[in-house]
Amino acid sequence: MALAAGAETQVGKLVIRNIGLMLSGRLEEPILDADTIVAEGGRITAIGRAADCDTGNARVSIDARGCAAMPGLIDNHVHTVFGDWTPRQNQLGWIESCLNGGVTGMISAGEVHLPGRPRDPAGAKALAIVARKSFGDIMPNGVRVLAGAVIPERGLTDADFAEMAANGVRLMGEIGLGSVTGAEEARAMVACARRHGLSTVTHVGGPSVPGSSYIGAEVVLAADADVCSHINGGPTALDQDQVRRICETTARAIEIIHNGNPRVALFAMNLMRELGKEAQLTIGTDAPAGSGVQPLGMLRTIALLASVGGAPPERVICWATGNVARVRGLDTGILAPGRPADIVLCDRPQGSAGATLLEALAAGDLPGIGMVLTDGVIRVRRSRNTPPAERVPEMLH
Ligand SMILES: [Zn+2]
Repeated sequence: MALAAGAETQVGKLVIRNIGLMLSGRLEEPILDADTIVAEGGRITAIGRAADCDTGNARVSIDARGCAAMPGLIDNHVHTVFGDWTPRQNQLGWIESCLNGGVTGMISAGEVHLPGRPRDPAGAKALAIVARKSFGDIMPNGVRVLAGAVIPERGLTDADFAEMAANGVRLMGEIGLGSVTGAEEARAMVACARRHGLSTVTHVGGPSVPGSSYIGAEVVLAADADVCSHINGGPTALDQDQVRRICETTARAIEIIHNGNPRVALFAMNLMRELGKEAQLTIGTDAPAGSGVQPLGMLRTIALLASVGGAPPERVICWATGNVARVRGLDTGILAPGRPADIVLCDRPQGSAGATLLEALAAGDLPGIGMVLTDGVIRVRRSRNTPPAERVPEMLH
């Protein structure tokens, strides 16, 4: 599925050379033996060694100067409302700020922060449709925002879901944000949403925004949504026994977020890896939140899991890119021919104890971002939010 339209797409041929490390976003092969990306019309046409790629007649040519390339990060859990504004912290420009943190895609878990959010079925339905349509026509600064996630409220019917689907709604927000909180009603609503092609998520943990509910393992497993959102709490985590039960039992995605409990994040990550269920791990921020908006929240979570958690950084990056895309049915998230040219060029930050990008992440440092592209268009040059990168790519022409 392609995401939002409305932003410019690359015209002509783009060539990025001298990439020092190619991170694919795919767990099957997280590091590719390649130093060149070619794209045309906003989509990748070739990845390989320069000698093996057709690099002639480039309209835009970039020298990566040894920087790493990775897929743009996809935040699996945000709470957008309208445009690049969040009422949660009354902040403007937060999506653009996240783009400076390497985030090229974000997925709404419900427009729950709208002041006076309607809680009746008609209002919930209308809000989802308006959010979907409003973000469908913009792509703030080139970020693909998939929004319009209907909040599960009692009284929404099969006909309501049919109407929403016909109007482009692709998401249901978290079970637990609205009035649907019981195991059986959650299971029924997820099944109904799924029948109409919506991607579904369940809150996990203690209550968050006013009016939301505690959702324990029993409801999470009964609901059987596509994503067990914030297994580490949003922000209050379940006890370890329930977290273990969810991780051991579910065949659905498990999400770790920035605005959650860091201790349980590490517990769940280790458990999922021990269980051989790494393909189900996804990463989000759950921002904007009471803790604020964290433009580097995705990078910080990757660094936490790779450093304190000890997971290979190139694999953790897959949880924040290719895994999210696969679970959500998106065509972004991996660097491969045919995929959108949503690319982050980055390097170790200056002064890091780590000698390379991956060593810096394993040491707990954040990458320095030198360039971000979506649809093959340069959206950000040197990031204004990350620390300065050791090496910065240069646009030759
Ligand atoms: Zn939640």
